[in-house]
Amino acid sequence: MPSRSRHLGADPVLLAESVAELVRIPSVNTLQAGPRAHEHGPIGEGALARWLAARTRECGSDTVVLDEVRPGRPNVYARFPGRTDRLVVVDVHTDTVTVEHMTDPPFDGRVADGRVWGRGALDSKATLGVLLALLDGWRRDGLRPEPTLLLAGTVSEEVGGLLGATRFREWVRENDIRIDQLLVAEPTEFRPIHGLKGLVLLEVTARGVAAHSSRPDLGVNAIEAMAPVIAACVAENARLQGLAAATEVGTGTVSVTRISGGEGTNVIPDRCAIAVGRRIVPGEEPGEVVAQLSALIRAACPIPCEITSLLPQTPDGQPGTPAFYQRPDSELVRFLAETCGTTPAVAPFGTNALRYAGLARELVVFGPGSIELAHQATEYVEIADLARLATVLSAWLDPA
Ligand SMILES: [Zn+2]
Repeated sequence: MPSRSRHLGADPVLLAESVAELVRIPSVNTLQAGPRAHEHGPIGEGALARWLAARTRECGSDTVVLDEVRPGRPNVYARFPGRTDRLVVVDVHTDTVTVEHMTDPPFDGRVADGRVWGRGALDSKATLGVLLALLDGWRRDGLRPEPTLLLAGTVSEEVGGLLGATRFREWVRENDIRIDQLLVAEPTEFRPIHGLKGLVLLEVTARGVAAHSSRPDLGVNAIEAMAPVIAACVAENARLQGLAAATEVGTGTVSVTRISGGEGTNVIPDRCAIAVGRRIVPGEEPGEVVAQLSALIRAACPIPCEITSLLPQTPDGQPGTPAFYQRPDSELVRFLAETCGTTPAVAPFGTNALRYAGLARELVVFGPGSIELAHQATEYVEIADLARLATVLSAWLDPA
């Protein structure tokens, strides 16, 4: 047998320990760090990023970049030379969600009952730990992956606006790097995710005139003026549901998700504000969607209203996030589905992939475990899943 075959699997004990080691380095997102996270030292992704920089060098990386995204919160990029110049990227977010509601020790990285326990074990340190264990083993055996591999550890995925992915995209563009395949690590139960909806989010503020509520004729009621706007949003959502979906991602949706206004029960309100979210599908441009939805809202509102975007502009100047989509029969999607015996899928949740549309020839979201088990009071990943992931990554990266 070629020596390669023994590297298609890996020792489950080593894989579990590699993931556990990452869990023991807290990296709670700074926006979600409470007293419990603070007990365990400095919050944020900084400590994990610095540890990763050293560890990836040990595992054979020839170039390691710490790219400061926010003070003390760098992305890490580590390049592992392959046997060819074909470049593949694995993106793993280095932040985790809050630990304040956990009923388990969040950072002990305990290995028990066939699982690795602790915050981040599933989302998404599993893929990072398995990849590091594989690279370390290959280096010791004098093997290289077929493609050149760039490992990107990106900050601030869970909350805070995908800052690390936004910066990584810029860095790839600045350095004129051409990516063949980009895998974004998230729990997908080994199903390759090939599409996600994008989003624009608007705030609509209607301006009326305050008056005593006994004399509504002297004022202009901003809350009542918002009623036809909400009705128009409901009708627009119904219209979108009636359209044929062009892809598996489905149709766009419109939802009114927040409302505020009114000063007192005896005052005609002079202000009412709503938030309107519009999920967008492949082929729709965020700018065009904003323009179309704004026109619809202005036409429905009987009094003057202001419309602003609640999302920061993307680096490309877009007022929202475009959808991400590629065909389910593309090479990497098919490879992962066939290797894992799963079917390609689209997902309702947001990931770093929303920043990577058009950045690589192929883009897939993929990883072990279920997103439904993430962010909970306990968190774990099955060691059997780590072993399965090691087999899949070895087959993809083809060490020899
Ligand atoms: Zn995640």
